[in-house]
Amino acid sequence: MASIDVTILGAGAFGLGIAWACARRGARVRVVDPGGVGAGASGGVVGALAPHVPEAWNEKKAFQFESLDMGEAFWGEVAEVSGLSPGYARTGRLQPLADAAAVSLAQARAGTARALWQGRYAWEVIAAEGAPWEPQSASGMLVRDDLTARIHPRRACAALAGAIRARGGEIVETAEMQGVVVHATGWQGFDALNTAFGRQVGVGVKGQAALLSYAAPDAPQLFADALHIVPHEDGTVAIGSTTERDFDDPASTDAQLDAVIARARAAFPVLSEAPVIARWAGVRPRARSRAPMLGEHPLHPGQFIANGGFKIGFGMAPKVAEVMADLVLEGRDAIPASFKPGASLPPGQEEAIPRRPDGPQDGQEGASPLGLRPHPRSLRAQ
Ligand SMILES: Cc1cc2nc3c(=O)[nH]c(=O)nc-3n(C[C@H](O)[C@H](O)[C@H](O)COP(=O)(O)OP(=O)(O)OC[C@H]3O[C@@H](n4cnc5c(N)ncnc54)[C@H](O)[C@@H]3O)c2cc1C
Repeated sequence: MASIDVTILGAGAFGLGIAWACARRGARVRVVDPGGVGAGASGGVVGALAPHVPEAWNEKKAFQFESLDMGEAFWGEVAEVSGLSPGYARTGRLQPLADAAAVSLAQARAGTARALWQGRYAWEVIAAEGAPWEPQSASGMLVRDDLTARIHPRRACAALAGAIRARGGEIVETAEMQGVVVHATGWQGFDALNTAFGRQVGVGVKGQAALLSYAAPDAPQLFADALHIVPHEDGTVAIGSTTERDFDDPASTDAQLDAVIARARAAFPVLSEAPVIARWAGVRPRARSRAPMLGEHPLHPGQFIANGGFKIGFGMAPKVAEVMADLVLEGRDAIPASFKPGASLPPGQEEAIPRRPDGPQDGQEGASPLGLRPHPRSLRAQ
């Protein structure tokens, strides 16, 4: 059997993206996930790839811009190699402006967007037309940008998996680790870090979303009242999302989603009659720094971590994949300082690698592949 160059734990947007970036550079990759492809936060339905406000630039915003800018080529190649559509399209976004102050702020941002988005994408203030597919605007004005794109998260995971396999990669539920190891295990991956460092290094933040039957495949996304309305290519429209720090069941939907759907129908009357065809919940991985957590794994010397995509994991995935492949395959570190795992660790312990006081160490009999806690589905199956 051919040996494996890179083992990636976790078949979500980060793990699959990194596996794909490594496989397309010729590495032999194996993705291990007991839940299968898209079992975590990445198996959802929303998929807004939307930029930060173009002002007060920092390395996180710059990284995200570069990632969004890479999206068309990244997802285009995944579609071509896999023969599966990730549902990508750069259809732009409309947002309402509440009053005159919001209009003049948005006009100022049109200028900063030209500079920060390198003249390649527009952020402009336009007059609302009262069209059915438009947010209601008290000022009569809207912001339209043409950088925002969309993806269908669940299909994007399937397409990434197809592309990885087409390049000879494996995606399996269990296997021993070989080669360099990357932990992309989402919110569950924070558990061991929280325990080892005795404080919260990262948390899970639950979100619920809905899918409506409504065909607007080429229409722009709408964003108002903190709601993302994302039309997909398959005749559905996603509505997202709740933000829940406290939850008992990571996968259930409840009255909080009913409220989001009701708010969306009120804000966007065009959707008032569209039937709900799916309800979905997942848990976003949020690092303490709120930035992605990329680099050497604080608990496993010589291994790597890619986590903390939080609310923009799909938007960040193309660039996360590239910088992680640079690091893992070539030892080239192009990761912003604020994305390093140390940014979420206790002061003074950024470089420390605490030893687990007891229990099996990596590689010993009885250890899970990487000494992580068993996957919840394996627990349920027991
Ligand atoms: C409701 C909702 C709406 C969202 N909307 C958007 C959006 O519009 N745009 C956007 O960019 N992002 C959005 N996000 C965020 C995005 O989905 C996440 O940032 C992203 O999916 C995180 O990807 P990940 O690969 O890090 O984690 P996950 O997708 O959670 O993947 C982690 C994987 O690791 C596996 N795993 C766990 N433990 C182990 C182990 N021990 N060994 C092996 N595998 C393991 C799990 O089974 C899981 O499949 C949304 C999230 C939610 C919940």
